[in-house]
Amino acid sequence: INTADADLAEVISRALRLAEADVSARNIQVSLEVPSGLPPVRVNTERLTQALLNLFLNAVQAMGEGGRLRVGARLSPDGQTFSITVGDNGPGIPRDIQAAIFTPYFTTKPSGTGLGLAIVYQIVEGHGGSVSVNSSPGQGTEFILVLPVRGKDE
Ligand code: ADP
Ligand code: MG
Repeated sequence: INTADADLAEVISRALRLAEADVSARNIQVSLEVPSGLPPVRVNTERLTQALLNLFLNAVQAMGEGGRLRVGARLSPDGQTFSITVGDNGPGIPRDIQAAIFTPYFTTKPSGTGLGLAIVYQIVEGHGGSVSVNSSPGQGTEFILVLPVRGKDE
């Protein structure tokens, strides 16, 4: 993939802007925890934006009216990797389907494509990173992306 130095805070706000219509239509509160002064990260901006947008839209769809979307970013202590977390206080993901959600075409939505998380997975792997999910049914869901700060071009 093509990568270039990017401002992570900017990538996150770009993705949030793309989700803004859905976010405000459902009166979702957004809380952003992105420290200032993060170093530039080497990523494919368009792809990372797409991955974040997919996570934001899933969160919004899961929460419905009046939820809270939490987006955080941080650098690891050794400065080699950074993480982005996307949390919601929706219904959560039942344990028995958690293993399936990254599979292409897996969806629980009447007219879902089941491609959103498969694309997230592919984009994160393409950056040499990883994605994981923590979800407690009834409490919410948090996706965590971990990516190298200095990703390499393939
Ligand atoms: P789609 O959104 O088209 O269903 P995705 O790949 O984006 O496809 O998501 C797959 C499935 O994972 C969803 O249908 C849903 O069951 C589950 N899921 C994803 N994100 C969340 C979330 N934030 N909260 C609850 N369930 C989720
Ligand atoms: Mg989706």
